[in-house]
Amino acid sequence: MLVVVCVKQVPDTTQVQIDPVTNTLIREGVPFIVNPYDTHAVEQALRFKDRFGCRVAAISMGPPNAEATLRKALAQGVDRAVLLSDRSFGGADTLATSKVLAAAIEKLAQEEEVGVVICGKQTIDGDTAQVGPGIATRLSFSQLTLVDRVDELDLSGKKIRVSRKLEGRHEHVEAPLPVLLTVVRELNRPRYPTVAMRLESADAQVEVWDNKVLQLDVNTIGLKGSPTWVSRIFSPERAKGEMLGDGVHDPEGAAQLLIDKMLEKDLLAL
Ligand SMILES: Cc1cc2nc3c(=O)[nH]c(=O)nc-3n(C[C@H](O)[C@H](O)[C@H](O)COP(=O)(O)OP(=O)(O)OC[C@H]3O[C@@H](n4cnc5c(N)ncnc54)[C@H](O)[C@@H]3O)c2cc1C
Repeated sequence: MLVVVCVKQVPDTTQVQIDPVTNTLIREGVPFIVNPYDTHAVEQALRFKDRFGCRVAAISMGPPNAEATLRKALAQGVDRAVLLSDRSFGGADTLATSKVLAAAIEKLAQEEEVGVVICGKQTIDGDTAQVGPGIATRLSFSQLTLVDRVDELDLSGKKIRVSRKLEGRHEHVEAPLPVLLTVVRELNRPRYPTVAMRLESADAQVEVWDNKVLQLDVNTIGLKGSPTWVSRIFSPERAKGEMLGDGVHDPEGAAQLLIDKMLEKDLLAL
């Protein structure tokens, strides 16, 4: 069985600058890192490999320099790395991105049965958390989002049991394979590649698939296939706070003043 893990190259968040005219990311001179959630996805895939002997393929859609992201996954121990790169994939929104990634997974599945796909919960640049569920929907896989623990992967019974981290609670669920998981940081601690693995991965092959390989209709991918676009990017203005009760210095007085103001604005029902 093949486990596919999706990894995305993202800008180091503190360095992001947006072109004020085009509203797109200025990529020149920006340092890139592997999306942190995806490092946990890779670790989980490798744990399946360690335990069950599955093979692991990492895929990424992006410009040619996204190869560095895949090389890091190779250094950690994935068996195969595929970069989906073509001018026609550029400018994609989440819908078009999931379409290309799903097509690549389908192509991998022609060679080897894909039982599990693992994505990060979200990226730290787009932050939409839509791509994982988008892939699962296209592939008609079960989807389990926000996974913070894998309790059991039953390959013969073709099912998986996980814990999902929801707001203020956990949910324990079981789903049939094939399945797509999106994972949170609490799931695991990603392993550090050994020096030997780093050296080996420097020579390892990263396959590059363009649209000649995937054969997707160019009107349904990239910018042309993206029904959403960014019309404006701005930092919201902070509303100026109102200074209440100048001259009130004791906590009781401040609390009373706050209650009076809230009652005045109908924010408290007594
Ligand atoms: C309205 C809109 C317009 C956009 N327009 C542009 C544009 O013009 N040009 C442009 O460059 N980008 C554009 N983007 C950004 C682009 O859509 C996203 O980078 C991409 O679709 C991934 O979405 P995300 O970052 O929100 O991923 P999320 O859904 O937050 O990511 C979840 C997980 O999916 C996987 N994943 C996501 N993207 C990839 C990938 N590329 N390769 C491998 N795995 C992946 C990762 O495992 C990740 O952790 C746009 C986004 C939006 C919402």
